[in-house]
Amino acid sequence: MNVPFATMDRMHAAVRQQMMDAFAQSYDHGWFIRGNQCEAFEREFAAYCGAGYCVALATGLDALYLSLRALGVGEGDEVIIPGNTFVATALAVSYAGARVVTVDPDPLTFNMNPALLEAALTARTKAIIPVHLYGQAAQIDAICAFAKKHGLYVVEDAAQAHGAYFKGQHVGTFGDVGCFSFYPGKNLGALGDGGAIITNDEKLAQKIQALGNYGSQQKYYHVEKGTNSRLDEIQAAFLRVKLAHLDEYGAERNAIAARYLEGIHNPLITLPTIAPDRNHVWHIFAARCQTRDHLRDYLTNCGIGTLIHYPIPVADQPCYASEQLPRTPVTALCAQQEISLPMFIGMTDAEIDYVIEKLNAYTAP
Ligand SMILES: *Cc1c(COP(=O)(O)O)cnc(C)c1O
Repeated sequence: MNVPFATMDRMHAAVRQQMMDAFAQSYDHGWFIRGNQCEAFEREFAAYCGAGYCVALATGLDALYLSLRALGVGEGDEVIIPGNTFVATALAVSYAGARVVTVDPDPLTFNMNPALLEAALTARTKAIIPVHLYGQAAQIDAICAFAKKHGLYVVEDAAQAHGAYFKGQHVGTFGDVGCFSFYPGKNLGALGDGGAIITNDEKLAQKIQALGNYGSQQKYYHVEKGTNSRLDEIQAAFLRVKLAHLDEYGAERNAIAARYLEGIHNPLITLPTIAPDRNHVWHIFAARCQTRDHLRDYLTNCGIGTLIHYPIPVADQPCYASEQLPRTPVTALCAQQEISLPMFIGMTDAEIDYVIEKLNAYTAP
């Protein structure tokens, strides 16, 4: 049997007609940038998250970068981020002109460790970007409490966590602003690039929207040197179709994860931990193994696709070499031992059970 790491084919087959109708509607309407599809999506996504405002943007990276800019984070400032995240979290800080400061994650959830923030704090620290990694909320209450105590902004990177809650409150609504990506492979994905911010601060929402629209709120009048970061009407139309199914997709991911958690019994493989007070939307099912590369080769030979999130920490990326970010133990452990198992909408019980069977049969080299 062959089980891919992920495929969108089955999810897309099920909504094919709805997506075609969404396309036809946009096509016939004949308005392609910032029109009623985009406005409707912003309204629906804000309501879904329980946020006051949503601004649709071109990418998740732009959501992070424009949020920092709108908050006035820039040259001479430092921003604390987790050491183990997708490089976009760091790049947003760099684009804003600020300095990246990484902290080691919690060894159980691999999410930002609030206990390590104090040591990363300096007089220049201006903001923290917690990442709700793999689809599980970070310890956001403690992170926000720390930020409040020290007068720092919190920009939540919720690019992997649409539909994730902490104590019943949707991620992205705890900090000053929450950032989402609609890259096709994310839990809510467009058929191309897309992103958004949510916030309860109307002024901040307007500022981010203006920054993403050439720094202009009034046509041909430019207050800021903004950029062009807008979500296409057609992508907004596609996203509205999928948003209506997001909770259903979340339930399905949860059922796959539950079957894995129940079925995988191999002392060589550590299963992911769900911390208290939150759900997990399983953007990634992140297992761990000391002989990870050997396990990965074995699974490849069994026809099972896997990925590593992330093989090279930000500190070890060539583009950050000159910044000499610290090499920290849990981030290094994550890069050495993490292995992401297949997880996608439409995965059959037979496919899940095949993955479980092969993992249980795995023996060390
Ligand atoms: C995907 C992702 C981003 C970037 O989103 P894009 O839409 O690809 O720009 C940022 N942060 C994290 C944690 C992500 O997973």
